[in-house]
Amino acid sequence: MYYLFTPVEKLSGVGPVFQRKLKRMGIKTVEDLLWHLPSRYEDFSKLAPIAKVKAGEKCCVAGKILEIKTAKTWKRKMFVTQAIIEDESGAIKVVWFNQPYLTKTLKDGDRVCLTGKADWDKDGFYISGPAYEKIYDENTDLTHTGRIVPVYPETEGLSSRWLRFIIKPLLKQFQRALPETLPLSVLKEHNLMPIGQALVNAHFPDSLPEAEKAKERFAFEELFFISLFVLRERSLLANERAAAAPMNLALVQRFVKMLPFKLTDAQKKSAWQILKDLEKPRPMNRLLEGDVGSGKTVVASIAALNMAKAGYQTAFMAPTEILAKQHFQSLGKLLAPFGLNVGLLTGKTDKFISKKLPGEPIEISRKKLLEMTSKGEGIDILIGTQALIQDKVKFGNLALVVLDEQHRFGVEQRSKLCQRQKNQQSIVPHLLSMTATPIPRTLALTIYGDLDISLLDELPKGRKKIITKIVAPANRQKAYDFIGEQIKKGRQAFVICPRIDKDKKNGKTKSALSWAEVKAVKEEYEKLSREIFPELNVEMLHGQLGVKEKEKIMKDFSRGKIDVLVSTSVIEVGIDIPNASVMMVEGADRFGLAQLHQFRGRVGRGPHQSFCFLFTDSSAKKTSQRLNALVNTEDGFKLAEKDLTIRGPGDFFGVRQWGIPDMAMASLTDLKLVEKTREAAKEILTGDPFLKNYPLLCQRAERFRQRVHLE
Ligand code: ADP
Ligand code: MG
Repeated sequence: MYYLFTPVEKLSGVGPVFQRKLKRMGIKTVEDLLWHLPSRYEDFSKLAPIAKVKAGEKCCVAGKILEIKTAKTWKRKMFVTQAIIEDESGAIKVVWFNQPYLTKTLKDGDRVCLTGKADWDKDGFYISGPAYEKIYDENTDLTHTGRIVPVYPETEGLSSRWLRFIIKPLLKQFQRALPETLPLSVLKEHNLMPIGQALVNAHFPDSLPEAEKAKERFAFEELFFISLFVLRERSLLANERAAAAPMNLALVQRFVKMLPFKLTDAQKKSAWQILKDLEKPRPMNRLLEGDVGSGKTVVASIAALNMAKAGYQTAFMAPTEILAKQHFQSLGKLLAPFGLNVGLLTGKTDKFISKKLPGEPIEISRKKLLEMTSKGEGIDILIGTQALIQDKVKFGNLALVVLDEQHRFGVEQRSKLCQRQKNQQSIVPHLLSMTATPIPRTLALTIYGDLDISLLDELPKGRKKIITKIVAPANRQKAYDFIGEQIKKGRQAFVICPRIDKDKKNGKTKSALSWAEVKAVKEEYEKLSREIFPELNVEMLHGQLGVKEKEKIMKDFSRGKIDVLVSTSVIEVGIDIPNASVMMVEGADRFGLAQLHQFRGRVGRGPHQSFCFLFTDSSAKKTSQRLNALVNTEDGFKLAEKDLTIRGPGDFFGVRQWGIPDMAMASLTDLKLVEKTREAAKEILTGDPFLKNYPLLCQRAERFRQRVHLE
């Protein structure tokens, strides 16, 4: 008698070797085994009369063994087992290689069922190396042959045959004993298979439509749980308290008037939505989604300004120092006329700059900056990197957190910054996340379903289309010549070096990887500065440079002192250099579409016609499909949808950590199903907001929380 939590090593047939292999696949308990679902099936449910077997086709036959024997070929030193099998229609030869023990289990006169491929030699048809199974009587329950046979994602040397052998008896035991995880009303309304039946049919279906129906249930279940979890988190957050800051319309209008440009309608609308949220005493959880260059920073500035004038602090976190520095400068400039204190806090240096505006940035010590921040009125906006989430950074009066490029942060970091500020009567800050990685609709409704979304769906007027080209290796020189001409015209260029992928087998450490990238950058830099553009000013930028060096390079680049900047993907996000007009990406196939789109967004930010050149040595079909999508689409949202269809949701940011089984993964792109499951979850929560009547659902939600937060 086993339980769901029985460890696999307690099962008969699972020794230490198998246990290790199972563990490596994440299978530790009986429950894990039961939920290790097949990735596909082979239909061997129809027996073929032996006389009808054709060469080259898969077949399943059943019959009596007329004769079986094993011999060793002296020439090739191999065991060959030969048998003759007969049914009413005829007889056929069967051959197995190197399985001498077969003659111990299969004897003359036994009845067997075989599945395999038929072949042809000079003596006629024969079946080579088929799967076999003994038939004792007409009630024999076949596992590997004569039925629809499950094929498992085979890894770590665990064969499907072995998994079937282990899983089938477990199913027999648990089929009727499994507690139903879905509410009965949901099962009924959506006509879903009950859990035990679904599990049996997923592993050993009697027909393919039944297997489909079983999968449907699991896909539904998975999405339903996600929705339930996310909606519940949302309502829990709605019960928290936040600082309500009244919208100061006159102030906002004054700010908007002072801008050197007109806000787009999308910017106005988003700013309005955010300001409305900030007026409420409930924490905002809003995502500002806008393509690269759509102007998210200025929208966030409006929110921060309004907050500051209402007497509250804003923390503004960016994923890189370069970006934090840039935000510090641009917010400083934008907000200069409003007399705010803006601070900058990054990771590696001890010197910090604070601004009593208007005036040039002044350096102050970290100690002083932290002191001012903790007092509340000393610093209105603190901009920084992850350094902001250190324990020693205490805010006196934090009410708004802005996360730029939120997809670059983990859930843990996000929640840490948004934690209740202890000295503030359990106030939870409002959260404004920003991203240029558009979230496809189905994901917005599922794993991102706890967010409200504001969309910047238009770019500021006058932006030119960036001309994107895939450059074949033969045309490399032409591309260099072109870059040379652009620079003669006064423009600047980026060169991005390929990402060094983590070598799975060697499991290189993070720092080794980043050193490899640095090496690539150095080599490229040498080549470009010595051979290709000896007369130009070429510089390089990578993660191993000191903060000061990086700052100097970015400053020089933005002042036009550098012509060509060779870099790792550190410049990927956010960087704003309007004079740069060429983005050249080496090893473009190593990057995802969204990331390439981000790189491309580094140019075309000023009045100049800009270009993006993608270099690749790969001729794989998927690569060219992906890169062509980039060439043909400028719209980041369409690209994200394409990426979703080409790569599947598994590669989409934030999806992996949900641990969605492969079988349900595809359903994450099924909008109808997503909507259905979300409705079902809403209905349950409306009737029972705390899931008091559904302990199993509660458990499941708890598991999600652990998984999502342990990223
Ligand atoms: P992103 O959304 O990619 O973060 P930024 O906020 O960096 O974009 O803005 C990109 C550039 O566009 C900046 O130089 C910014 O000053 C400028 N900008 C923002 N809004 C507008 C607008 N409405 N019209 C013209 N330029 C704008
Ligand atoms: Mg930005």
